[in-house]
Amino acid sequence: MIILGSLILILAVAAYFRLPLIVWSLILGAAILFIHIYLDVSTKSLLLAWGIYFIIVVPLNLNLLRRYAISAPIFKLMGGIMPTISQTEQEALDAGDIWWEAELFSGKPDFSMIRNIPKPQLTDEEQAFLDGPVEQLCEMIDDWKITHEDYDLTPETWKFIKDNRFFAMIIPKEYGGLEYSALCHSQVIMKLGSASGSTAVTVMVPNSLGPGKLLMTYGTKEQKDYYLPRLAKGIEVPCFGLTGPYAGSDAGAMPDVGIVCRGTFEGKEDVLGIRLNWEKRYITLAPVATILGIAFKLKDPDHLLSDVTDRGITLALVKRETEGVEIGRRHFPMNQAFLNGPIRGNDVFIPMDWIIGGEQYIGKGWSMLMECLSDGRAISLPALGASAGKIAARFTGAYSRIRKQFHTPIGYFEGVEEPLAEIGGQAYAIDAARLLVLSSLDSGEIPSVISGVVKQQIMERMRKVINHAMDIHGGHGISMGPKNFLARAYQLIPVGITVEGANILTRTLMIFGQGAMRSHPYLLKEVEAVHNKDVKQGLKDFNQALFAHIGFFISNVVRSFWIGLTASRLLRTPGTGITRHYYRQLARMSSCFALMTDACVAILGGSLKRREKISGRLADILSNMYVITAVLKHFEDEGQQEKDIPLLKWACDDALFNIQTAMKGVMVNLPVPVIGRMLNMIIFPLSKPYQKPDDKLGHKVARLLLEPSDTRERLSKGIYVNDDPEDATGRIEYALNYVLKTDELNKKIRAAQKEGRLSPSDDLYLEAKAKKIISGNEYALLIEAEAAILNAIKVDEFSNTGWEVETP
Ligand SMILES: Cc1cc2nc3c(=O)[nH]c(=O)nc-3n(C[C@H](O)[C@H](O)[C@H](O)COP(=O)(O)OP(=O)(O)OC[C@H]3O[C@@H](n4cnc5c(N)ncnc54)[C@H](O)[C@@H]3O)c2cc1C
Repeated sequence: MIILGSLILILAVAAYFRLPLIVWSLILGAAILFIHIYLDVSTKSLLLAWGIYFIIVVPLNLNLLRRYAISAPIFKLMGGIMPTISQTEQEALDAGDIWWEAELFSGKPDFSMIRNIPKPQLTDEEQAFLDGPVEQLCEMIDDWKITHEDYDLTPETWKFIKDNRFFAMIIPKEYGGLEYSALCHSQVIMKLGSASGSTAVTVMVPNSLGPGKLLMTYGTKEQKDYYLPRLAKGIEVPCFGLTGPYAGSDAGAMPDVGIVCRGTFEGKEDVLGIRLNWEKRYITLAPVATILGIAFKLKDPDHLLSDVTDRGITLALVKRETEGVEIGRRHFPMNQAFLNGPIRGNDVFIPMDWIIGGEQYIGKGWSMLMECLSDGRAISLPALGASAGKIAARFTGAYSRIRKQFHTPIGYFEGVEEPLAEIGGQAYAIDAARLLVLSSLDSGEIPSVISGVVKQQIMERMRKVINHAMDIHGGHGISMGPKNFLARAYQLIPVGITVEGANILTRTLMIFGQGAMRSHPYLLKEVEAVHNKDVKQGLKDFNQALFAHIGFFISNVVRSFWIGLTASRLLRTPGTGITRHYYRQLARMSSCFALMTDACVAILGGSLKRREKISGRLADILSNMYVITAVLKHFEDEGQQEKDIPLLKWACDDALFNIQTAMKGVMVNLPVPVIGRMLNMIIFPLSKPYQKPDDKLGHKVARLLLEPSDTRERLSKGIYVNDDPEDATGRIEYALNYVLKTDELNKKIRAAQKEGRLSPSDDLYLEAKAKKIISGNEYALLIEAEAAILNAIKVDEFSNTGWEVETP
């Protein structure tokens, strides 16, 4: 028994350290030999041990034997059941780069990859743009006026945006653009978003997926030379039409068609071109666009270009004034002022050189879109989410300190503390998640899976923080008007959730599906091998991938169980103190995730794609592991500030709890319950180790938001802050200063009351002054503070007959 146990232990150690099969086999052989020579073991046991060794272990190392005896039948079986990858799926899989998610799928992440990424840094020029034109734009925007009165930005704002090249942040300098980093681009949108969501969306669209980005990446020289300088100067306003009434999330199903034909163009006859018909909707900036990017399916029935009739999804730039283009109507998305509307094309004839990238890019539209989609997902929307997190944390924290009920600042009530803590923790997580993906983009990578993670996670977390902020502000958040900074952010939530890959679809179909296929060390290799037309090569590749995969699986079983049994304490990871604790948890969860992925793939195979509730939970695990990574990186980049530890802990504890919840969800919902139970025993051998952030921690986080501190400054860094008592957020900052300045005085007055030196009076401050409890100056300060507080808690009032603001 002891001998058997020792052999199993040796094998487990080999699996834990992921030793190759040959090393593993040699160690096992040496162990049996040692037992044979030195220990007193019965001949029967020795024969059994050597029998197993020579009949099972040795043949496993003989590649040819293994290939034909074991891999070939499985290969044949898989060929029948493994689904093929469609062309659009393949294009999505090929788009972008594999990044940090591959380490998380590996079960043994190499943290140096993340820790070696330098801290994100703006150039002096970028900082000057943020401190100059961006600050000025924030000051000039009147969000109420544009969203309620004009339903559009003012002409001055449009001009300022174009003159200062806000639409040209991604365009290279050689074309007159600003050529800013992804980090700067994000900081600009984030700051604008804190002053006006509508302005931020207006600016972000031309800098995101659209004609500018597509031309830069794929345009012909003529297209770039003509359009990019015009886009940079704002002479052209772009929009991009992909979505239509019949093709929303399933954009590839668009019925919009272009037929290759000959026609008349600008007076010239017999021009080779395309007759286009389309119907698109929800297109941002369409009502004012001068140049429309259109996605359509190109057909060549008369074979004017080649023998192929269906040429696939193609992208073209169509000038607004082209005959047959219908534009100018608008939708009204959630009371926002950014322009959005339908565009239609009826028999619009365009020449071939309007195809983005020219004829060589015919049919490549889907992969072009997939490749460029990462920017919108990783830059613009997360910037809006960070903006929401920061305004909620800074101004709801301040409001909770200013607003008193039951003679107490509402932020001191435990009931308010709870959502306030979540606002703080989530704002920290959101910013960290945003910054990490920007580092990847700025190093030239296109992290397509993580950009989906960031989009989906930040939008969900934005929804939470803004909802909590609304609850805490009560009627102050609900009553709309120029004084309300929150309600428009609340209305913007569904927009963020829906655009650039709606969240439900992104979570349940894309993140895990794409992540597993692209980043799992063996899965794609196996699928490709099974579908390889060269069957001999396919079998060879399959055999190699399969055995490596089996070793990987065994290793993850052993690692997950052992790490769980030792509560991760023996894991070697970077970090010190609290960070090491979280690095260890992350390493543990990565191993468990790798195991769970294989278990799900083994049980569900190709049907996992349809089991969206399972793959959504697997996506949650991956996404929350990314969030922990980002939070650790952010904490370290910020210099490991002691005072920020509650935020780090809140964000990590929350993410770990989310991971545990998702894992439990997978375990109890697997179609083979016994596998779920086995996974539970391996992954959580002692107990479920993670709890939601506890009350004490929540208390610490909430307190960080209630008054100015370096931590609060870091948490809300980059948004538009002012202390103008007439401004929606400025009046809160203004009042907070007074509340804090008069805190001691109020304590003095309360003490005097308790001691009976002051009677309950209508005018407590006056009485305190008369009785010399406070000085004349102190009295004046208290009166000023009272006025500032009243101003900060005020809501707008309107006339009954119209919408004139009549706030007294
Ligand atoms: C304000 C705004 C601005 C926009 N700007 C542009 C633009 O400039 N250009 C452009 O081309 N488009 C734009 N869009 C379109 C946007 O990208 C689409 O709204 C989005 O793709 C979803 O399509 P849909 O609204 O038709 O919803 P649907 O596709 O009908 O989806 C409805 C719901 O079903 C879910 N769902 C769908 N399929 C699945 C699935 N397989 N599994 C799980 N869930 C699924 C979705 O997640 C969603 O929750 C904009 C939309 C809005 C609202």
